[in-house]
Amino acid sequence: MVRTVVVLGSGAAGLTAALAAKRAGAEVDLYEKAETIGGTTALSGGACWIPINPHAQNAGLSDSRDEALAYLNSLSFGLIDPAMAETLVDRGPDVVNWLESTTTLKFSVVGGYPDYHPERVGGLPLGGRTLDPGLCSYRELGKWAKRVTPSGRVESLTLAETGMGGGTGHLDAETTARRKAEDLRGCGLSLIGHLLKACLECGIVPKTGTRGLDLEIDSGGVSGIQLQESNGTVISRQADAVVLATGGFEWNDELVRAFLRGPMSAPVSLETCTGDGLLMAMRAGASLANMREAWWTPCVRIPDPTGRINRPYLINRERTLPGSIMVNRSGKRFTNEAANYNSIGGAFHVLDAVDFGYPNLPAWLIFDQAYLRRYGFAHLTPTDTSPAWLTHADSIENLAAMIGVEPAGIARTVSQWNTYVDQGKDADFCRGQSVYDTWAGDAAHRGTPQGTLGKISAPPYYAVEVLSGALGTRGGPRTETHGRVLDTRGQPIKGLYAVGNAMASPTGMVYGGAGGTLGPALVFGYLAGIDAASGNHCDRIAAPAVD
Ligand SMILES: Cc1cc2nc3c(=O)[nH]c(=O)nc-3n(C[C@H](O)[C@H](O)[C@H](O)COP(=O)(O)OP(=O)(O)OC[C@H]3O[C@@H](n4cnc5c(N)ncnc54)[C@H](O)[C@@H]3O)c2cc1C
Repeated sequence: MVRTVVVLGSGAAGLTAALAAKRAGAEVDLYEKAETIGGTTALSGGACWIPINPHAQNAGLSDSRDEALAYLNSLSFGLIDPAMAETLVDRGPDVVNWLESTTTLKFSVVGGYPDYHPERVGGLPLGGRTLDPGLCSYRELGKWAKRVTPSGRVESLTLAETGMGGGTGHLDAETTARRKAEDLRGCGLSLIGHLLKACLECGIVPKTGTRGLDLEIDSGGVSGIQLQESNGTVISRQADAVVLATGGFEWNDELVRAFLRGPMSAPVSLETCTGDGLLMAMRAGASLANMREAWWTPCVRIPDPTGRINRPYLINRERTLPGSIMVNRSGKRFTNEAANYNSIGGAFHVLDAVDFGYPNLPAWLIFDQAYLRRYGFAHLTPTDTSPAWLTHADSIENLAAMIGVEPAGIARTVSQWNTYVDQGKDADFCRGQSVYDTWAGDAAHRGTPQGTLGKISAPPYYAVEVLSGALGTRGGPRTETHGRVLDTRGQPIKGLYAVGNAMASPTGMVYGGAGGTLGPALVFGYLAGIDAASGNHCDRIAAPAVD
């Protein structure tokens, strides 16, 4: 009998699950709450972190199962279920092969992109685990091209050509014109474009503007889903299995307050990621895990010059380039500004036991005129005049007064910082010591501390407030290795699956390397799709139930 699988959400996890289920013989209905396809994935860099992937192997880059697992384990804090980590590492290469044979996707390794903790045991300082989805022809998507969420990026760049991927962020005029004419798009749009095309080709037609509201459950498990269409009509659909691929809960203030481990004031994802999947799973009796974690990222809230995008801006490059530091309200540095974004989340969450407050919030990025003229800032080019949102002053003390930071503290910090730069060594936070630290810094000095160390001494001085943000949350229903949602006794809730940011992250609080969220989303999306189509999901788990 052909089984019906309903997938909620059209990001990388949802599209992969839908495609896998359809290819495995199921009837698949794909519903998307937003009016457009692609979720947060469409906004993303599209990097996918897959250890021992075939492209790294073909390029002769060294990696192994043991190294990948040792690496994850060294960063686990007991939050990673070993079976989930093993599944990610063991099945990742198969999923890359499957995607490349089932869709038009062709990945390539982003050369040299280090893991985010490259000096840890099993970490890869020279990269190999980060895959670039290349370009996708949106011409071939026909009318669907207009129905994918616009990213706000330079859409025709591959990941490797962006600053994030180690490139210049620019193309020559001829290449730009050619890519525009062919409507070739890169990064997350490429990933979504290829997956969407494959779904459409095998008869999956996503229904946008349709929100999964609640699961229908009978004694045999999930039997259907209630959906709300954009005009408010509530309909019911029979289903043998439902895959929750609804993203995280970062846009739901109540859930954020209830679960996240510290302040998070700037979600960067699609606004429709409001934890609908989490709430449905909770009502169905799911056990939860990893709830305090998000994919943390420092960001700033500045106007977009096109006026189209109203999301916080990620400052990976800006905080890494030589000549900028981050200070807290006492005017002190409090972390390695060039560390990976996910780890910096922890620095914002430090609680002062005496003050009973968060000493590192608010935080400010400080830089000088030489920095601005050399690198620009966010959308500003080096020759732009400084806009009203950029606080500036002719002395560090005056700048401190304008942003409400202790003037003596910040003056001492800048003076100390400049000494460290002269010495070529950040004695406080080791900025520039890890090979990761200069990846997003000054490319002319990549791999040396000078790629991220630079003095702050040329007035005027500038300050922008840095916010504790998140690419998305990563807690949710606990699953076993096929994405089957487990109840509070550790048994699968028959017919219920969770994948991507809607599931309890298989990598705990770790962001292994660029693509650390999308890699697992593809792997567990695939596994859940296959399992949901097969109908084996009522099997009991071998491990004893927890009462
Ligand atoms: C600027 C930026 C850059 C990033 N770059 C990278 C990167 O390069 N690599 C990486 O690994 N990660 C990156 N990330 C993070 C990554 O994009 C997300 O973690 C990932 O896309 C999550 O995938 P998903 O499929 O779980 O969710 P999403 O892609 O967010 O999709 C979830 C979908 O579910 C829909 N939905 C929600 N509720 C319902 C409902 N009730 N019914 C139906 N549909 C529903 C939502 O509308 C949404 O479309 C980046 C994020 C941002 C913001």
